[in-house]
Amino acid sequence: MSRKDVENIAIIGSGPAGWSAAIYAARAALEPIVIEGALTAENQEAGTLPMGQLATTTVIENYPGFPIGELGAYLKTALDEERTYVLPPEAFGESGERIGIYGSALIELARQQALNFGARTVDEDVVSVDFTKRPFELRISDETTIVAKSVIIATGASVRWLGLPSEERFKNNGVGACAVCDGASPRFANRPVVVVGGGDTALEDAEYLTKFASKVYVVHRRDELRASKILASRAASNPKIEFLWNRVPSEILGNDEDGVTGILLTNTLDREEEPLEIETSGVFVAIGRRPNVGFLGGALELTEQGNIKRTVPFQTNTSVPGVFVAGDVADARYRQAVVAAGSGACAAMDAERFLAEL
Ligand SMILES: Cc1cc2nc3c(=O)[nH]c(=O)nc-3n(C[C@H](O)[C@H](O)[C@H](O)COP(=O)(O)OP(=O)(O)OC[C@H]3O[C@@H](n4cnc5c(N)ncnc54)[C@H](O)[C@@H]3O)c2cc1C
Repeated sequence: MSRKDVENIAIIGSGPAGWSAAIYAARAALEPIVIEGALTAENQEAGTLPMGQLATTTVIENYPGFPIGELGAYLKTALDEERTYVLPPEAFGESGERIGIYGSALIELARQQALNFGARTVDEDVVSVDFTKRPFELRISDETTIVAKSVIIATGASVRWLGLPSEERFKNNGVGACAVCDGASPRFANRPVVVVGGGDTALEDAEYLTKFASKVYVVHRRDELRASKILASRAASNPKIEFLWNRVPSEILGNDEDGVTGILLTNTLDREEEPLEIETSGVFVAIGRRPNVGFLGGALELTEQGNIKRTVPFQTNTSVPGVFVAGDVADARYRQAVVAAGSGACAAMDAERFLAEL
């Protein structure tokens, strides 16, 4: 892909925030360059593969504009043939089958839309930045440097998983990390579910899941919560929520047909004790998300939770003028694709104004 000596806008990240920023910047004739991230074993391990978190899940039911339909033929006409191979066969449906949009298909469509308007891409990681002088410098994993008048950071966040082989086996088949995304699935309706974690997210997830599940077990490794008092007391008084203290998951049980059917929990105070078996239709892992900010090396101010700090209310400015932020890397609260895409559009418009004023 051709690069300019000095780019107008460099966008880091290829999730919904990055592609949305690229669509808006490209349509504003700013010819953005998108650094998509690299397909490496290290990124696989860290959960930061190109195309972001949506590409790791199955059907997305809450992104506006994609009701169930015959999407197969549309996907084949909308996407470059060379990119359709990255999608799982289920994303196309059987001929004529009505399906919902797959996360991997949704994000491929966003990428294609940005390319159609002239966005250029680099399939590498940004390894470090220099924001102390303008234009800004981004050092890339192919040992080149991209120089840009403005930068949009959309590097997302990585889910902290439990790290169990059985968790990997049942991901998207009962194991999830987003209650708001998956809670309404029929598989959890009037059946017990487990939430793992003791912070605000775990308790918010637990409360949300009580709308659908017959019972919600909150499994926590200690006997004290990290969550705020108000959430803790709401959860404690919810008759559908039961806390299982001083326990950690040691194995998720199930089979390929039914997905998750149970979980084994080890007692953290007595690891020799026989693990406790709980029947469950799902396991929601809520032990934290890590904003992907390592490459910044302290170049931007962060919040207490480690997200990039937005310095102007309702805008995407960061602590360095000319560097903007979008999506989950700045968002510890909403963490939804549509919100990330919305903030990507805002970041592109903020960058466009900044460039116009230069
Ligand atoms: C299992 C799961 C299911 C979900 N289901 C839903 C759902 O049903 N509905 C919904 O709305 N949301 C869902 N979400 C949440 C949604 O995926 C996220 O809110 C959204 O993807 C955030 O978008 P983003 O662009 O901010 O970041 P991400 O999607 O996290 O993308 C970040 C991008 O940055 C790249 N990157 C990171 N570091 C670097 C670097 N140094 N250099 C270059 N590139 C880099 C990564 O490769 C990646 O492409 C789900 C999340 C998960 C984990």
